Amino acid sequence: MKPDYDVAVVGAGPIGLATAILLAKVAGIPAASIIVYDRRIPDALDPRHLPPVDLRVFALSRASEKILRAAGAWDDIARTRSAPYERMHVWHADVPPHGGDALVFDAAEMGERDLGIIAENIVLQAALAGAARRLGVVLADGEITALEHERDAVRLRAGERDVRARVVVGADGAQSRVRELAGLSVSRTDYGQTALVATVSTAKAHQHTAWQRFLGDGTLAFLPLAGGHSSIVWSIPTARAQQLLHATPEEFERALEKDFDSALGRVKLESERAQFPLWRLAASQYISTRVALVGDAAHVVHPLAGQGANLGLLDAAALADVLGEALRTGEDPGAERILRRYERWRRSENDLMSGAIDAFDRLLARGSGRVAEIAQRGMPWVGRSTLAKRLFIERAMGLSGELPLAAR
Ligand SMILES: Cc1cc2nc3c(=O)[nH]c(=O)nc-3n(C[C@H](O)[C@H](O)[C@H](O)COP(=O)(O)OP(=O)(O)OC[C@H]3O[C@@H](n4cnc5c(N)ncnc54)[C@H](O)[C@@H]3O)c2cc1C
Repeated sequence: MKPDYDVAVVGAGPIGLATAILLAKVAGIPAASIIVYDRRIPDALDPRHLPPVDLRVFALSRASEKILRAAGAWDDIARTRSAPYERMHVWHADVPPHGGDALVFDAAEMGERDLGIIAENIVLQAALAGAARRLGVVLADGEITALEHERDAVRLRAGERDVRARVVVGADGAQSRVRELAGLSVSRTDYGQTALVATVSTAKAHQHTAWQRFLGDGTLAFLPLAGGHSSIVWSIPTARAQQLLHATPEEFERALEKDFDSALGRVKLESERAQFPLWRLAASQYISTRVALVGDAAHVVHPLAGQGANLGLLDAAALADVLGEALRTGEDPGAERILRRYERWRRSENDLMSGAIDAFDRLLARGSGRVAEIAQRGMPWVGRSTLAKRLFIERAMGLSGELPLAAR
């Protein structure tokens, strides 16, 4: 029996939607033969009725910009409450914020107009949902509760109905049901930290700079938003995060200002506070028979480097390249040999980044002892070395490593 769809993507988060679009645009799979399921499909972006502000924001790299351009969603994202950031300013709690020991990465020094943009999760999702709809990708409400391997397809239970697809993509986030149903195990490390996020205003202008202070027991980032506001990501031990979540706005502002060493003067809370428990997660394998994992379903990294969604978009683009090549040479895109190519490519890149971020957290953000001290002393050295800075920034912008077509 012929499968109902070539590909079923589970999860209409940014990574699932981008995967579906790139499978149509880059791999050449007919859009009407791709279905995306989610418990609730996001509405397409409508400039006359913008969604409420989402506290969950992402720093998107240059590689992500290229991928989102290829997906036909970039213009909507860039014009909707997003802001470019031109500089990164990083310093350790032991040194003053504006002294010579702070590490500053400037887009102009690298010959770039900016280092990326800060955009809301809901804007990304809505822009991608609109692009997918325009293309003719099928978007369907439905929770996936069962998965069964057949000889030439995978059968999914989606809400009340069964659907068969030649390939299933698990883009259903950190708690991925597809991963579990496909029997793929994960290694998971609890950071013992929670990230508090909120929108704030500051007495001094943010200068289109992403600010980050390593605290000794965590990290605090101020990301520049449109309209002069900033989005904070404050990753600290969970017990302290709980206290701050329930503190009065004035107590919260005072603690925030202190942890930020008043780098931008007085801080005022402008929104609710939201929390995200932090862990590191890596799927033992990204694939099983006719199933591939992308985005947080495959890997979750600490947010201190702002890389989770950026890595997921590279997964989406890489999977489109691999499946596209298989189709062009007349091979079965669900064959293990084909999916294994995707896994080898993305797992090595993601493991490398995840390990580096973990080392930043252990040595710079929370480190104590001799090795941490050496790493912390090394920060100003990186700042003075043009080569080290360039290598660092190219990685952060997603411009090194093996790049998929859409990211070039
Ligand atoms: C505090 C914080 C700050 C961050 N900052 C950045 C940053 O600056 N830059 C960056 O690149 N990344 C950042 N990240 C990481 C980023 O949030 C994630 O990597 C990204 O959201 C993952 O997207 P996704 O599409 O893979 O998963 P998700 O966004 O989790 O989407 C999964 C989707 O699957 C659906 N789903 C789940 N189960 C089912 C099911 N059984 N059936 C149907 N649908 C299902 C869900 O409803 C959801 O819509 C940050 C993360 C945190 C916690």
